[in-house]
Amino acid sequence: MAELFYDDDADLSIIQGRKVAVLGYGSQGHAHALSLRDSGVDVRVGLPEGSKSRAKAEEQGLRVVTPAEAAAEADVIMVLVPDPIQAKVYEESIAPNLKDGDALFFGHGFNIRFGFIKPPAGVDVCMVAPKGPGHLVRRQFEEGRGVPCIAAVEQDATGSAFPLALSYAKGIGGTRAGVIKTTFTEETETDLFGEQAVLCGGASALVKAGFETLVEAGYQPEIAYFECLHELKLIVDLMYEGGLGKMRWSVSETAEWGDYVTGPRIINENTKAEMKKVLTEIQDGTFAKNWMAEYGAGLPKYNEYKKADSDHLLETTGRELRKLMSWVGDED
Ligand code: NDP
Ligand code: MG
Ligand code: MG
Repeated sequence: MAELFYDDDADLSIIQGRKVAVLGYGSQGHAHALSLRDSGVDVRVGLPEGSKSRAKAEEQGLRVVTPAEAAAEADVIMVLVPDPIQAKVYEESIAPNLKDGDALFFGHGFNIRFGFIKPPAGVDVCMVAPKGPGHLVRRQFEEGRGVPCIAAVEQDATGSAFPLALSYAKGIGGTRAGVIKTTFTEETETDLFGEQAVLCGGASALVKAGFETLVEAGYQPEIAYFECLHELKLIVDLMYEGGLGKMRWSVSETAEWGDYVTGPRIINENTKAEMKKVLTEIQDGTFAKNWMAEYGAGLPKYNEYKKADSDHLLETTGRELRKLMSWVGDED
């Protein structure tokens, strides 16, 4: 059974007694820095000179210094820069400024799990990873709620790394919703698998294949868009609220019957065998190695895939239809 921790299990004064550096001010960075500050924590944001995020962090009342200065001042360093550049930021700005007793924090275990970052023995290595996008983390905090977090300790040099991680999680509202204890290995592998097989990769491939099947059979792209993409949100909202059961309670009996008999024909034994291969390639480091190589080469394939999907009829159709639905739109 998972170990869960709530507000009463966490002591906010621990993190209030430390000096925190938040490196990066993107989706997660802004949420952590602002909410920690509002929780009475001494926070500075670390961003390079010329970073686009600098003005925003300063406007929002935070003190911004370079990543190296932030790491030198602080004794808790949260690394919230993009995963593929964390190792470089670590070598250049963090490692030279780490002292025994400092704590190195991450929002995702990628670089520790796959060995791209190897912290020295005298430093606590912790993770606090909200299970939601950064903008929601911040909004929930401001509304007195929180996004559930997972917390892990990879290296407990001081003997008090986990209470420190829980205290940090409390500072961003995580213990209001619940914090689950995990490991860097479990978090990294399940996170990569979930986003590839189900959430991002699986869902977008399913939507595209369904859309293409209808359009190739001669149906109007607009109808196919609503059927295969737009309505998915309504279905997923029901699953989120009450599992598969609530979704099936709400749809028609015909839809429920089709769910039972057709779902397993679409996602079948072959799909699951491929999922197992995907998981193996995550576990043995193949995915991480390939992704770092692609990033290092300047993202040639990544940009090709991005462009191809942006020009796909599903996307061009959706862009037009969403203009007519003022309540559906981009959010920053
Ligand atoms: P973003 O891409 O949203 O933001 C990255 C930030 O890092 C930007 O502010 C960027 O500044 C800054 N940055 C870029 N280079 C450097 C550098 N050399 N030194 C310091 N800062 C730099 O990242 P995310 O918030 O999405 O991801 C951060 C971490 O959080 C990752 O480990 C990710 O896996 C994890 N995570 C993310 C989630 C999410 O909701 N997105 C969910 C859970 C975990 P600039 O404006 O100049 O580009
Ligand atoms: Mg992820
Ligand atoms: Mg229908």
